[in-house]
Amino acid sequence: MQKEEILKALAEVQHPAKGDRDIVALGLVEDAELSEGKIRVTLAFPKHRDPLADYLCGSARAALARHFPGVEAELKTIVKDEVPAKKKAGLDLGTEELEKVSHIIGIASGKGGVGKSTVAVNLAVALARLGYRVGLADADVYGPSVPKMTGTEGACPEAFSEGEKEVIFPVEKYGVKWMSIGYFAAPDQALIWRGPMACNALRQMILQVRWEELDFLLIDMPPGTGDIHISLVHDIPMEGAVIVSTPQAVALADVEKGVNMFRNESINKPIFGLVENMAWFTPEELPENRYYIFGRDGGARMAEKYGIPLLGQIPIVQSIREGGDDGEPAALGSRPDGMAFLELARKLADSVR
Ligand code: ADP
Repeated sequence: MQKEEILKALAEVQHPAKGDRDIVALGLVEDAELSEGKIRVTLAFPKHRDPLADYLCGSARAALARHFPGVEAELKTIVKDEVPAKKKAGLDLGTEELEKVSHIIGIASGKGGVGKSTVAVNLAVALARLGYRVGLADADVYGPSVPKMTGTEGACPEAFSEGEKEVIFPVEKYGVKWMSIGYFAAPDQALIWRGPMACNALRQMILQVRWEELDFLLIDMPPGTGDIHISLVHDIPMEGAVIVSTPQAVALADVEKGVNMFRNESINKPIFGLVENMAWFTPEELPENRYYIFGRDGGARMAEKYGIPLLGQIPIVQSIREGGDDGEPAALGSRPDGMAFLELARKLADSVR
């Protein structure tokens, strides 16, 4: 494999803040070679703490994986043309941007596919409908779904420098401030991260954003209960969490892991409640009918077992799925499914005050 081939692959990585010019054309690729069976790439950033450095590394990794499947890639970043600043491990980001936020709440689930993002997005919209100032950070770096669910795909958040610091403005729609790594990636681009990179990207998506005054900042956490969650909870001053599950036994076994994670000594954050999603199926034309296809009251039993409140039950309704796909959350409407999210928002607001 020649250096040219590696550079050709890297030339597919565009810098969203530089008029979509690619990283090769921008001169960010300091070094690219194949040695000892590994592709080794060094990206040089002219600025200390380029807010998109981690994102660009992730995209470069994805481009290399597409072009050279099965070949391990090692990416390094260096800072060039700058007096070396006090070197610190990881990103040196403070929590200043969160100072005017009253309640930071993680929306978590033990596993993927239970509707965590759907609940997070609808809860944010419902809280805004109740008059609260709301933001939502999509921390699901591996599968960011907020841009699609809110119809903000293609939005390009503005970033600017403030002295040493880079600040990103959230995207506003439906009365909510949204931020997602998805705004910085092409829709068909797979995001591949190493653990520490994912953590840094996540912290930037939350700590570098100009949220201003908010009553609630919801953090749509990645599914599962791994290291990334633990560092997220450590880095972000979260007040507590809401756990989303379906009534199925397998999903509920994962709830147990989620509950244990937040109750773990090193995290020790309150769980405001459980949301039972897909609690029953209701055909749109027969809103009074309920079919308990994933079992009945599993969420209520689980909430009781762990001594956490059941904050709400959300049915499976076609319009909730369609709302997610069309970028118009069901919580904007006044049908029973929209009302279920408003009720949930009311309960959550009551339980954190
Ligand atoms: P997660 O964030 O847990 O991975 P998502 O929120 O992405 O899950 O939801 C997975 C899929 O299920 C999406 O297509 C979403 O529209 C759909 N979905 C989630 N909750 C409901 C619901 N209550 N009724 C109908 N469809 C739903």
